[in-house]
Amino acid sequence: NGDFDSKIDYVFKVVLIGDSAVGKSQLLARFSRNEFSVDSKSTIGVEFQTKTLVLDNKTVKAQIWDTAGQERYRAVTSAYYRGAVGAMLVYDMTKRQTFDHITGWLEELRGHANRNIMIILIGNKCDLTSLRAVPTEDAQEFAERENLFFMETSALEATNVETAFQTVLKEIYRIVS
Ligand code: GDP
Ligand code: MG
Repeated sequence: NGDFDSKIDYVFKVVLIGDSAVGKSQLLARFSRNEFSVDSKSTIGVEFQTKTLVLDNKTVKAQIWDTAGQERYRAVTSAYYRGAVGAMLVYDMTKRQTFDHITGWLEELRGHANRNIMIILIGNKCDLTSLRAVPTEDAQEFAERENLFFMETSALEATNVETAFQTVLKEIYRIVS
């Protein structure tokens, strides 16, 4: 059993969901490769990326799925959600509508995913401070009401991206270990 996979203690599937153009693919690029591409078309077609981390002396392989352009409700198939133990529910804090749609995404998620899936609400693009359209308190309140973790991130400036993913993965680990 000398192969690499035998050293993996856990594989956690985490799905990214939210409206188109909120920054899901860039969050994934930032987390998995510490990259941000100005031309985000380069990430289209990618199904998932993996990143291996050590949590509490255990090797955890995070398998993060990206919708790759099927971001309308019901266009995301149940196969996408199958086996997911975590979800990052992303909106663009400069576009109110993407936050208003979070309720729909949450319904979709709760209809398809495991009942005990760990969910974090992400307000992305926090670097665009002067364009903010969603107050932190609104999102915070919503997250508390719905029992979600919450964080504001910037994939562009790498703000809170690592922390957001780590929060979900650590919580999943805490539950399964
Ligand atoms: P997706 O459709 O949700 O996967 O969104 P993308 O990751 O393709 O990003 C959509 C657009 O938003 C692209 O033009 C990105 O460059 C831009 N973008 C993504 N994240 C950020 C961010 O944190 N800050 C800023 N200013 N732009 C971002
Ligand atoms: Mg994308």
